[in-house]
Amino acid sequence: MPGRLRYKSALITGAGSGIGLESSILFAQEGANVLLVDVNIENAEKAAKLVSERFPNVKAIAWKADVSKENEVEAAVKKAVEEFGRLDVVFNNAGIMHPADDHALNTEERIWDLTMNINLKGVWWGCKYAIQAMRENPTDTREGFASTPQLAYTASKGAVLAMTRELAMVHAREGIRLNSLCPGPLKTPLLMDFLNTDEKKQRRLVHLPMGRFGEAVELAQAALFLASDESSYITGTDFKVDGGLSSAY
Ligand code: NAD
Repeated sequence: MPGRLRYKSALITGAGSGIGLESSILFAQEGANVLLVDVNIENAEKAAKLVSERFPNVKAIAWKADVSKENEVEAAVKKAVEEFGRLDVVFNNAGIMHPADDHALNTEERIWDLTMNINLKGVWWGCKYAIQAMRENPTDTREGFASTPQLAYTASKGAVLAMTRELAMVHAREGIRLNSLCPGPLKTPLLMDFLNTDEKKQRRLVHLPMGRFGEAVELAQAALFLASDESSYITGTDFKVDGGLSSAY
């Protein structure tokens, strides 16, 4: 069903790789103008080039921002509004999983702070500036959602779920929807760098009911659904795309 995001504009963080990249492609395919935000500007630029070549009828713009920095997120939202005239969808997708051993007994404060600043505070800044921008939109249809889904990583994602529920309730009557997307293990650099041997991958696969890792595009399809009017009665949810993992035990 092409055109599900026609006349809409979206800001996607972490757009240079994995889930963010696949979502950028799908959102543009469905007609949205997209601001592709990433701290890695080279990857964001590659993504914008790819999207522009495939979908010349939409605008795809690369933008450098570190989501843990309030002023950079504010500038990214401002840029989206300047370029597209409005902001309808924000996918707070950027996140990290630190490769170090992040066990409670031997992790470091530095890893905790870094993870929280990107995975949790980054979502807060995204919501803060996007909600302000969405309030200024001329119509009433607005969508927003946060991505979620080691110690710091799990804590940061758990907090995002709680923050999403809270914000969803506060803004429900304004027509601003917020949902958490909760992926199972996906074949993206984030996880594949972490499970960097065949043995580690096999150990994880044993627990997956579908017996395989998910593809980033399978998460992007859910992101598209939540970004479109087809999910108009859905807010405050934890939307799972996990190949059955959460029902396995
Ligand atoms: P990825 O590593 O492929 O892509 C993440 C992107 O975010 C990269 O382009 C990176 O440059 C960018 N990024 C990192 N820190 C940033 C910052 N401070 N500011 C702006 N951009 C930044 O990862 P992915 O697998 O696509 O993960 C995307 C999201 O999905 C993350 O929040 C991750 O925690 C979550 N997630 C992934 C999986 C999985 O199995 N891959 C599972 C559950 C949740």
